[in-house]
Amino acid sequence: MVTDRIKFLRDEINKHNYNYYVNDNPSISDYEYDKLFAELKELESEHPELITADSPTQRVGKISEGFSQYTHKHRLYSLDNTYNYEDLRKWYEKITDEYGENTELVCELKIDGLAISLIYENGYFTKGVTRGDGVTGEEITPNLKTIKAIPLKLFENVNLEVRGEIYMPKSSFEKLNEENLKNGEKLFANPRNAASGSIRQLDSSITAKRDLSMFTYTLMPDDLPNPPSTHYESLMYMKKLGFKTNPNIKLCKNVEEAIDYCEKWALKRFDLDYATDGVVIKVNKISIQEDMGYTARAPKWATAFKFPPEEITTKVRDIQFGVGKTGAITPVAILRPVQLAGTTVSRASLHNFDEIKRLDLRIGDKVLIKKAAEIIPKVIKVIDTPQHDSRPVYTPPERCPSCRHNLVTLDGEVNLYCINPDCPEMVKSKIAFWVSKDAMDIDSLGPAMIEQLYSKGLVKSPADLYKLTIEDLMTLDSVKDKLASNIYNAIQKSKQQPLKRLITALTIKNIGKETADILAGTFGSLEKLRNATEEELQTVNKIGLLTALEIHKFFNDPRNVKMLDELIELGVNPAPALQPKSDILKGKTFVLTGTLKNMTRSEAGDIIKSHGGQTSSKVSQKTNFVLAGENPGSKFDKAQSLGVTILTEDDFLEMIKE
Ligand code: NAD
Repeated sequence: MVTDRIKFLRDEINKHNYNYYVNDNPSISDYEYDKLFAELKELESEHPELITADSPTQRVGKISEGFSQYTHKHRLYSLDNTYNYEDLRKWYEKITDEYGENTELVCELKIDGLAISLIYENGYFTKGVTRGDGVTGEEITPNLKTIKAIPLKLFENVNLEVRGEIYMPKSSFEKLNEENLKNGEKLFANPRNAASGSIRQLDSSITAKRDLSMFTYTLMPDDLPNPPSTHYESLMYMKKLGFKTNPNIKLCKNVEEAIDYCEKWALKRFDLDYATDGVVIKVNKISIQEDMGYTARAPKWATAFKFPPEEITTKVRDIQFGVGKTGAITPVAILRPVQLAGTTVSRASLHNFDEIKRLDLRIGDKVLIKKAAEIIPKVIKVIDTPQHDSRPVYTPPERCPSCRHNLVTLDGEVNLYCINPDCPEMVKSKIAFWVSKDAMDIDSLGPAMIEQLYSKGLVKSPADLYKLTIEDLMTLDSVKDKLASNIYNAIQKSKQQPLKRLITALTIKNIGKETADILAGTFGSLEKLRNATEEELQTVNKIGLLTALEIHKFFNDPRNVKMLDELIELGVNPAPALQPKSDILKGKTFVLTGTLKNMTRSEAGDIIKSHGGQTSSKVSQKTNFVLAGENPGSKFDKAQSLGVTILTEDDFLEMIKE
């Protein structure tokens, strides 16, 4: 029955609204919530007689207790949303039918925080209120005064109200959760919940400790003598008054330009330090906005395009383990498969056994998982259900899932380790790492082939790779002569990889790409590194005592001595580290972005290092130069906004020529 379904949907949505707006603790993903909401809207539009004033489709948000309440002079609305471009085109078509072709639109990022209204009198900030239920909000002025992005005094002595979004930068959210984890306090599911929980603190000194910011996006110009006539102008005016507005605003001539903007930011959003869950598209002309008006909960002149979901709920069917290249046991949640960010997800990383304990994850639990950009999905939290308590608490394994060797913990570490050097899974992980892009870069030799090479007894260590013949490779499933000789050639070619790659490939504890680079640069040859004393290793810049001991231990372990001798005998002869050519770039930090014409970014990085400079992956105040090729990414924009010198490839070549 439709009435039953409507009742069910309203009850569900009301329950989720409470968890989300009052407790800052959602129990389903936004995507799943939006699906329930869209279904209710659809049913109500088919049966308008069933719409009631208390339906969630007729209201926004919720107000919680504890703060004094304030009735907004003008309502704060929500936004209609869609996940597809066709709906956007239909929405725009209705507008152009009424207001003419090429009605201008403004695209803005949809900041995933919480809406706030700020009131200024004679240029002074006097009152700040949450959106609440749109009509009445919570007055939180003292808390808002702790946020530096909110000007306490404007550059003009005007009376006005502005609206915007309070958010917590992603980096600060992660730091806050790390701190809370250490102190055994509640973890926030995402930056939005963290921002909301921080701003609605009864004690403003707690808010002051949280790193919050605000983008302002709406001007209510009631008392202005000459109010702006377009939304774009009002954004510019707010900026001029001293408000922080988002720099990624675009004025679009039509909906196709708006769609291009959405496509661009669906990918670029991961480079930003704040969460954005979509794009808000608004009609630019205020007179058209006024003419179009509002529905019960949203403006008709604006809509939100939401990015494909990064979060979803699913069920944990099992917990299995991987054995890493160092022997560390990594638990993996086996999930009921779900669609997320364009792929089917059936596994999620759980990091280590402390994480399972912290989450109190039990087999059978419902969980919220998240995937951002290319990162492997992770379990964010267990959804509180009555069944959870009746399930047995998870206990970590005592033996290695691969070789049944007893697992051990190493000093001060949370991981469990298998220390059997012949553990099949560990050996395969080591070989897979050896051939990976960061190490010896033997492309075309994937995990399935390594599995076969191992089970056929052809490869039991990285050194065995160099004993393989083309005939051996042709025994693998679907490997014919051409592929076999490609793999063979790639293996042979890797013998001359630079020393830093070989050091990385060896899987010495605590030695990643960067430390390997330092070691290669300092010692220059494998022979010298192998013979280095503990004292010599300790004097290397950026290498601590413990790491020095690990390196020394590695090169003196008889198994490793044998393996290295074998590798050398098989012809592995790393190209010596680049000797510095000059120090003209000494003390200079470069960030590389875009596609270069004459070299790869990694080659450009080597050139910079050979002239004494360094490279970094992030643009900051400390960056001296950004070397930008074609189609540069957001690092280019960041460099511009920070005033960092941007070099073309030609500028760079000229610089090192000198
Ligand atoms: P919304 O977040 O989808 O969109 C409206 C809001 O967008 C505005 O109120 C404003 O705060 C914000 N916004 C950000 N950038 C903006 C910009 N540049 N211009 C204008 N507005 C901008 O709507 P809502 O009413 O705040 O919340 C509803 C949404 O919240 C749902 O669609 C759902 O995604 C989520 N939600 C989730 C749950 C859950 O349990 N997971 C529960 C309730 C709500």
